[in-house]
Amino acid sequence: MSNLIDKFVHATNPLHARPPRACGGLTLIKVLSRYGIERSIHDVWPHISRPGLRGQRCARSFLIGKYAADSGLSAAVIQCHRATAWAGLMTCASNGLQVIINHRATNDGTSDAVREGHFTVLNAISHDSIELDDPTVGKIRRLSRQSFMDLWQPNYETAGFVFIAMSAEARVDGSQNIASCPRCGSEIRFQPRVLFDPLHWHPGGCFKRFFCLGCDAAFC
Ligand SMILES: [Zn+2]
Repeated sequence: MSNLIDKFVHATNPLHARPPRACGGLTLIKVLSRYGIERSIHDVWPHISRPGLRGQRCARSFLIGKYAADSGLSAAVIQCHRATAWAGLMTCASNGLQVIINHRATNDGTSDAVREGHFTVLNAISHDSIELDDPTVGKIRRLSRQSFMDLWQPNYETAGFVFIAMSAEARVDGSQNIASCPRCGSEIRFQPRVLFDPLHWHPGGCFKRFFCLGCDAAFC
């Protein structure tokens, strides 16, 4: 893997001033591999990235979800309510879903990455702490609930409290489980099913909006 990443850095960033914004791709291939779907960063990157800050391409959450869905998984991109966001992640973990979280890269005001977003994989979560797999730096990060919630706030690149959840559950057809996006016409599947239980979608529930995987339109 490190050799692949080295090649990718060289190919996309000849000046080596900073590593490329590959976190979305690296988290995606890590989660896909947990389902036995082996992809390289070169496979996924053209499909999930768009130009971002400083002109570098970076991944978009809805495109990560679309790639996972096109790979045969059930995938949803969801924004939580601020007050119940932690419970939203715990719901995902307790139901065995794989989750990529989009959060601030840093809160360090002296870093020029302070306006950027970052993707990590949820490894584990308890009432008061969280463990994130950060394949961009090859590390597991353990954070207190407060430290993580401080990172999971909006900034220039991130909407805040957004995650991509995936599962290998079979697709369920029927008009109650599928809709058509009014903006782009893409099929919207209300899966993973546990996340679209109506109990999560009221003002006191965990979830605020979900996003079309075809065009990033938001629905609630
Ligand atoms: Zn759409």
